Amino acid sequence: MGMMSLAMTRRMNTDKSALVIVAHPDDEVLWAGGTILARPNWDWHVVAMCRASDPDRAPRFRRVLEQLGADGGIADLDDGPEQIPLEHEQLEHALASLVPDRLFDVVLTHGPKGEYTRHRRHEEVCRTVTKSWHAGDIRARELWLFSFEDGSRAYLPRADATAPIQEPIIAENWRTKLRLMTQSYGFGADSWEARTTPHVEAFRSFEDSREALDWVIEQQSELDA
Ligand SMILES: [Zn+2]
Repeated sequence: MGMMSLAMTRRMNTDKSALVIVAHPDDEVLWAGGTILARPNWDWHVVAMCRASDPDRAPRFRRVLEQLGADGGIADLDDGPEQIPLEHEQLEHALASLVPDRLFDVVLTHGPKGEYTRHRRHEEVCRTVTKSWHAGDIRARELWLFSFEDGSRAYLPRADATAPIQEPIIAENWRTKLRLMTQSYGFGADSWEARTTPHVEAFRSFEDSREALDWVIEQQSELDA
């Protein structure tokens, strides 16, 4: 070990740095909140791509980050009800302004089909993050894609049972997650968001960016087919 301090050794052995990139403030809690809460010793950085000028949601996002022990930032991409497709360059530019220029152990973001049927912003963020990781503009050892599905609206979104990483959330952390959705974000107890709040979070992980990008493109080609 030589001159290395015990604290440094511990950090190298146990603590990881993770970057969470989501379309909207609340997605980080809904799809990854249990995973974040279960790893309080990790260094978490959370980025949301929309709603910076939303006077309600933006300050709530800040307070949620404090409660998650995370830092982060928020951009202001269009999030109108029409869901006008965003240019890849717009997303790329917003990402570049928010993502710190350092190497993360893991970057987590939306799955290629979003988490339910259907939200274009989730799909766009997945594609742009994967492309940026492949291009080296986002530096991370691994990419974890949220893996949820709603059976084409047959039921509320739930962890995709076929995803290799399954993260069951302990009861205490699930209650915290639900409280963040209802009290911190203000969703009603009967809202879609509160009722969805998953007990299991699932991910598909990649270490090879080419493989990740090929998979995302293949999955998304089925969306409009
Ligand atoms: Zn969202």
